[in-house]
Amino acid sequence: MTGIFIHRPVLVREVVEALKIQPDGSYIDGTVGAGGHASQILESLGDGGRLLGIDRDREILEIASTRLESYGKHRFFLLHGSYENLEQICKSAGVERVEGILLDLGVSSLQLDHAERGFSFLKDAPLDMRMNPEEGRSAQEVLAQTSQKELEKIFRNLGEELFSGRIARVIAETRRQHPLRTTKDLSDLILQAIPRRFSSGYQRLHPATRVFQALRIFVNRELERLEIFLNKVPDFLSEGGRLVILSYHSLEDRLVKTYFVDWERKGVLKRVTKKPMVASEEEKEKNPRSRSVKMRVAERMA
Ligand code: SAH
Repeated sequence: MTGIFIHRPVLVREVVEALKIQPDGSYIDGTVGAGGHASQILESLGDGGRLLGIDRDREILEIASTRLESYGKHRFFLLHGSYENLEQICKSAGVERVEGILLDLGVSSLQLDHAERGFSFLKDAPLDMRMNPEEGRSAQEVLAQTSQKELEKIFRNLGEELFSGRIARVIAETRRQHPLRTTKDLSDLILQAIPRRFSSGYQRLHPATRVFQALRIFVNRELERLEIFLNKVPDFLSEGGRLVILSYHSLEDRLVKTYFVDWERKGVLKRVTKKPMVASEEEKEKNPRSRSVKMRVAERMA
């Protein structure tokens, strides 16, 4: 089975509802992925409506392109790039403002499935983890070039890893002998670094989960990009336009919440609901990616 059948869009009905789609409106899906949400947005758009889909990952954009083809090429527009480059995105689509923007943050199940991208500790592959392999340093380079102290900080802050110090120390010791090249090199080393009672017979999370997550966020500069986006997004929404953000990490959600509260205080955007929406038990059961989701929605004021 290929990944296209495995990636299920999270809170899809809720996202489409939250966007309050106007049939003739223009919409941005900043993390179009395999086009799961995008196809549902296109279902609600009329012939005069437009959807701009952005992704940093070229491989995934090709999948989206094939999947969305049947909606008519004049109705959607796919761009390889990063969602925080809103000026460039709007310019290439010939619009100044849009009626709605969606971000579904994090990593796609397709990226996790493609072993050679190095996102998953369940499959052995070179440690890359770049969503856009044409840009920035790979996880392998980060592990080779970052000081022990800085690595510890990354694992603690971005992964909330309990054994950040030990893991960073074992990495620093090991790389003096030989470079860390593969996902297996790293996950074996993590198992070796943490106390035995945590490395054997673990229950829910594989012990490498948090370090892999932290490295991925660091390699792709995920929090920096989100913050750049949040700083300018109000200027790109028309009055009444909706912003919908699905986050999967407490630091992302905290950032989004802080901006939402601040906008409301300044009368820029108002929150549609104060509390974030989460997935139902039924969805969590069917789709593991939905387990940690928090969805926040805000509307552009005059
Ligand atoms: N909503 C999609 C799934 C999105 S998964 C669907 O229903 O199919 C998250 C996607 O965001 C991934 O494809 C990833 O490559 C992309 N992504 C992550 N950071 C990004 C960024 N800064 N700019 C654009 N795309 C990004």
